[in-house]
Amino acid sequence: MNLLPTTWTGLLYLFATVCFILALRGLSSPRTARRGNLIGAFGALVAMVTVFLSTALDNVLLILIAIAVGAAIAVPVSHRVKMTAMPQLVALFNGVGGGAAALVALLELRSSSGFGALLAVAFTVLVGAVSFAGSGVTFAKLQEMMTTRPVLLPGQRWLMGASLAAALVLAALVLATGQTWLAAVLLVVGLVAGVLLVLPVGGADVPIAISLLNASTGLAVAASGFVLGNVLLLVGGTLVGASGTILTQAMAAAMGRSVTGILFGALKGGSTAGSTAVSDRPVRSSSAEDVAILLGYAGRVVVVPGYGLAVAQAQHTMAELASTLETRGTEVIYGIHPVAGRMPGHMNVLLAEANVPYEALEEMDQVNPKMKTADVALVVGANDVVNPAAETSPGSPIYGMPILKVSDAQQVVFLKRSMRPGFAGIENELLYEPKTTLLFGDAKESLTKVLAAVKNL
Ligand code: NDP
Repeated sequence: MNLLPTTWTGLLYLFATVCFILALRGLSSPRTARRGNLIGAFGALVAMVTVFLSTALDNVLLILIAIAVGAAIAVPVSHRVKMTAMPQLVALFNGVGGGAAALVALLELRSSSGFGALLAVAFTVLVGAVSFAGSGVTFAKLQEMMTTRPVLLPGQRWLMGASLAAALVLAALVLATGQTWLAAVLLVVGLVAGVLLVLPVGGADVPIAISLLNASTGLAVAASGFVLGNVLLLVGGTLVGASGTILTQAMAAAMGRSVTGILFGALKGGSTAGSTAVSDRPVRSSSAEDVAILLGYAGRVVVVPGYGLAVAQAQHTMAELASTLETRGTEVIYGIHPVAGRMPGHMNVLLAEANVPYEALEEMDQVNPKMKTADVALVVGANDVVNPAAETSPGSPIYGMPILKVSDAQQVVFLKRSMRPGFAGIENELLYEPKTTLLFGDAKESLTKVLAAVKNL
């Protein structure tokens, strides 16, 4: 079909671009994120319909079948996926995007000529393939289909160096000859490089690698926009590349890590994940009634939510306990660590769902100075984000990550099910300190019991 005059096509692309920019703006705050997401999806729909109406497409039936198959898979998956599994879903979508960009560029090679176009093809094929394979490995790690720890193959450095050198030589040959088979070999080398790049990344660094691959998919898509002469792909890809880069840097900073350290730390023999062995040293555990007394007679309680709050879906019970304590005159503050949970903003989204007012949520830098004046720090399903090893153990995988200093509070109460460590796989010395009390059990069940006991005080 070629139903749209060029001016209309341009205007509709411009409209879709504005939608994407507004979507990013909306996504920058939990309050507006849902609207931002819808605006972005609407922009994508407008862009897709515009392509159909403005381009003389071949194989329309096949394209429609592909869209139907994709939608039939994606819609049920998006409804069923748990929020805690969101990073792996993002990895999957991202990888598919990179792979699609690489294939499109490969097919466009025959009709491309000139240095700029061939360079864009080679770049898209390579980066798209790296992104596809790398995202596949991060998906497998987060889904625990393979070990989440850094994996180092024998001679990993040499393999990595050889695959990069091969990629550069092949890219130069594609530029010189424009041969499709050379680009296909480049694609295979890109797949190998993607696997090798991500295998040594482990533990808490995996989602940062996903964000980085997401940014590179954006760049691959932007380059494919150049190949296809499509301004919208160019702009959309650049937006993904830029926002993905900013997110990667923000996540790395929140963990006190550098992006190169994350990708190449294990290669240099740096810290890998810790041991998951659990020691059998004694700890002080307590009953829900005792915890209720601690909380019920406290002047200030700082609640530190973590991944376990999301697993237990205990946000509503937590909010009810907080408001019950407040009616008794206890001040309740939520201390939010930027990487608590499994995705940026995870705790904000959970607590917003339970109608906890935004004003009650305080960021790490805001809440840490108040910790000393807190009677109780109530740690609900969090572990790594309060682990002092980040400050005291240079060999630890979380060393350098800023933490919520709950040990400054008069008393610390941990709600968790066992002595198992958190995501980074390392023990938390705070669990053994005399000022710490553990209430074992699922966070929702424990909070329900504590709430009932507070009401009976
Ligand atoms: P952690 O993974 O360190 O700890 C979670 C704790 O919750 C565990 O101690 C676990 O103990 C407990 N838990 C799990 N399920 C339940 C349940 N049903 N009821 C009660 N407790 C439960 O989480 P944190 O939030 O402290 O730290 C987040 C980690 O994830 C950091 O290492 C961070 O770097 C990493 N990360 C965060 C990302 C982000 O963007 N937010 C991205 C990628 C990684 P037990 O099993 O004994 O119950």
